[in-house]
Amino acid sequence: MKYLTRLFSTDIGIDLGTANCLVYVRDLDRVVLNEPSVVVRQVNTHEVRYVGARAKEMLGKTPANLEAIRPMKDGVIANFEVTEAMLREFIQKSLRQVPWYRRLLPPRVVVAVPSGITEVEIRAVKDSSKRAGAGQVRLVEEPMAAAIGVGLPVTEPCGSMIVDIGGGTTEVAIISQGGIGYSDSIRVGGDELDEAVMQYMRKNYNLLVGVLSAERIKIAIGSAYPVRDEVKMEIRGLDMNGHVPKTVTITGAEVREALQEQVRTIAEKIHAAFEHCKPDLAADLVDRGIMLAGGGALLVGLDKLLTEETGLPVFPADEPLNAVVKGTGMMLNDEDLWEFNEN
Ligand code: ADP
Ligand code: MG
Repeated sequence: MKYLTRLFSTDIGIDLGTANCLVYVRDLDRVVLNEPSVVVRQVNTHEVRYVGARAKEMLGKTPANLEAIRPMKDGVIANFEVTEAMLREFIQKSLRQVPWYRRLLPPRVVVAVPSGITEVEIRAVKDSSKRAGAGQVRLVEEPMAAAIGVGLPVTEPCGSMIVDIGGGTTEVAIISQGGIGYSDSIRVGGDELDEAVMQYMRKNYNLLVGVLSAERIKIAIGSAYPVRDEVKMEIRGLDMNGHVPKTVTITGAEVREALQEQVRTIAEKIHAAFEHCKPDLAADLVDRGIMLAGGGALLVGLDKLLTEETGLPVFPADEPLNAVVKGTGMMLNDEDLWEFNEN
């Protein structure tokens, strides 16, 4: 029976992130979709016009009759209706890549969600997934999926710490004995860093820059530790006084200064986790260090800064943006992990 089900269906794993949504398909054994969690819809009718990459390009540039929405922005589902529309689009787009006979039965779906979401949100994600074509739906907390995805030994008794820095949130979790021993999240992530760049430009150069430009600056020359201070970049924006377009050049050192406060907040959150940690678990962490996942793990020098702040070894995951979706895929491929996470 299980064999037949497997023949006529596939399983998919979804990382429903605040910035990016990724989908893994077991039958193809790869990530088939990786798109920003953005939806553009008609203002008056709420008709969905664009989803994903195309929608993100329109952030800050939509004409009056359209609005660009990031339904998961702060790590919670800010807009159920839009989240469901997005999920449906992504699930169906992914399933179209699977041979027809694998679509005869509905797919088993694992969705990774932020660990702070409420019962109501859990219900909503499950229902939305089912309406979008899913059969059995299982939710997994994002830090657990990330830990599995980067290969931490989650079912063993030793403790591991994972820090997942996404767009809207940073989640800090200590995993041991196959469960999440401690987890907490703050609404500081990549978006806040972009916001910090925007504020810095406003304050120091009277320059208004868009959110996508701010993100580009952060990625191109931003850092958490003095390692790329000499690099420079030209930035275009709107002069606040004359309200005319203006170009200024800023250095890596300036961007680092702009990001400093938010980076410190993340470091403090990690410190707070140690206070909740039993001595034996703390000993494990000294041995094993801290694993960084999520797009924020790519911020240059963050590992160095956190090593200095905590005194522990800090490792960025190999492919931090894929950690969560990889974890969902591993759960689908491993009956033990699937059963183990029953909910
Ligand atoms: P989420 O899980 O919330 O969807 P992701 O893990 O996909 O978030 O990470 C998205 C965040 O990572 C964005 O804020 C993006 O700007 C940031 N990011 C991506 N690449 C880099 C980079 N090279 N340096 C710094 N930040 C990055
Ligand atoms: Mg994430």
